[in-house]
Amino acid sequence: MSFRTRIFTASLAVAAAALGLATNIIAWELRREERGLIEQRLRDQARLIAELLSRSAIAADADLDAEADRLAELLDARLTLIAADGRVVGDSTSDGEALAALENHTDRPEVQQAGTTEAAVVERYSTTVGTDLLYAAVRTTHPQIAYVRVALPLTAVAEQVRRVGLNALVAFALAAPFAIALAALSSWLLSRRLNAIAASARQYSAGNLTRPSYDYGDDELGEVARVLDASVQELGRRLDELSRDRARMEAILSGMVEGVLVLDRDGRVQLVNRAAQAMLRVDDTAAGRRYLEVIRHPDISAQLTAALGGGPAAPRELPLARDAARTFVARAAPVAGGGAVLVLHDITDLRRADQIRRDFVANVSHELRTPLTAIRGYVEALVDEPPDPAETRRFLEVIARHTARMERLVADLLRLARLDARQEVIETAPCDVGQIFSAVQADLSAAIDARRQRIEVCVPEEARQVHADPAKLHDIVRNLVENAINYSPEGADIRVEAVRRDGAVDLVVSDSGPGIPPADLTRVFERFYRVDRSRSRPGGTGLGLAIVRHLVELHGGSLRAENRPEGGARFTVTLPV
Ligand code: ADP
Repeated sequence: MSFRTRIFTASLAVAAAALGLATNIIAWELRREERGLIEQRLRDQARLIAELLSRSAIAADADLDAEADRLAELLDARLTLIAADGRVVGDSTSDGEALAALENHTDRPEVQQAGTTEAAVVERYSTTVGTDLLYAAVRTTHPQIAYVRVALPLTAVAEQVRRVGLNALVAFALAAPFAIALAALSSWLLSRRLNAIAASARQYSAGNLTRPSYDYGDDELGEVARVLDASVQELGRRLDELSRDRARMEAILSGMVEGVLVLDRDGRVQLVNRAAQAMLRVDDTAAGRRYLEVIRHPDISAQLTAALGGGPAAPRELPLARDAARTFVARAAPVAGGGAVLVLHDITDLRRADQIRRDFVANVSHELRTPLTAIRGYVEALVDEPPDPAETRRFLEVIARHTARMERLVADLLRLARLDARQEVIETAPCDVGQIFSAVQADLSAAIDARRQRIEVCVPEEARQVHADPAKLHDIVRNLVENAINYSPEGADIRVEAVRRDGAVDLVVSDSGPGIPPADLTRVFERFYRVDRSRSRPGGTGLGLAIVRHLVELHGGSLRAENRPEGGARFTVTLPV
């Protein structure tokens, strides 16, 4: 049953009950009034007859019974004329013998009452007529008549009264359609408002929280709707805030390099960010599943089990499942209120940097130890037992050479440190490659001549200009040419050339020396890396190519080493133009 039908039925029932009650009260009141009027009429009629008799309007010797009949016909009621001794002298319902046979009426209640009061009205059963009658009796001053009594059968009274009741019923029937129409109208108005409120509620539950333009009204229903509306709006605001917070958190988590995995109190994966997905080799489907099904790493599972139990779990260093060369630290911690959170931190780079640092320290110590040992040896020899001047001079020269080597080493180390710290900035300017090559050639001409090597420089016009830092470009070329001189045998050919390519210029230094074993071609740029320590020149630091690579990269260029098919090494510096 719809709300509207209920309201309609209820208001109709109320209207019907009110109408019924009102009809009954009015009918009762009308009946009472009607009865009063009937009694009044009987009394008045009795009084009128009594008055007529007292004024001797009826002769004393008249046939009183016939008179009673005549008058009764006029009154449309039963008329009884009673003598002072109680004898009935005239009655409209009994004639002749029947009248004579009528019993004495002295003790009739109405007659008795009429004796004491002005007019008596009594309702009782009539033995004469054999039915219930309403009597009105009054006294009169006629010579033969003492009492006049007018009576009406109660059925007639009831009939009149019933008619009044019937009228009330007709009134009820006439009022009923109005009541129905009013009930229908009021239920329609109320249900219309309720439907509007229900429509707003439906709109809210569908997720659309825009406030409806509908005016809820000022009564209690409107107040309830407004309060609910405000609650929904407040909830919507909080929901908005929550989803914004969530989006922010998701953005943070997905942007993190650390892997994060969150479990609920039942051990189901609530959240796993991209980094953790990659580290643990799981995908988006992991969410909602139990961690034991998702995580294949027994150590991590054990940590999570401990964390879910509320206990502390020591961070563990583990190899990555996907790539054994990578190492990460897993830390699991319990979450207040149940659940656990796992954070995976990739420490491969940290470990590698640590290793590089250790290697570097070992290399530097090693590089320093050789000259220091030599210097110490010669110094001790000089101190212990001063040799002859020629020998002394030779010792001192060796000491000077080792000192120079240490100086070079320290200078190279400092330069690398400056480059690492990005303290060396490049100041680019248009450079003439030909000029730089000539300057390098001039710097190293003594060494070239000493080794009877030939150097060929080739700079075509289109490759003459590059945009670079001239001093650094000079260092680059000089370093490569120095290596070519040092690692090629005497009488070797060295070629320095510039080649124009698409958007770049290649500076190529090649020699006709032994070349570099293919496995070492990429490693020669590492710090302290030497192809063959026994073959390396005594003055080399092993840092030259590392510095060259740094300088080339500062220019946004690249550096590569290769072997020439006809023998010898070739270093190519590619600079963007
Ligand atoms: P170094 O100070 O020892 O020359 P570099 O960094 O300049 O250090 O060179 C690293 C290593 O590369 C050298 O020890 C050498 O073995 C190899 N190398 C460099 N240039 C040449 C070349 N032109 N021919 C052969 N080997 C070379």
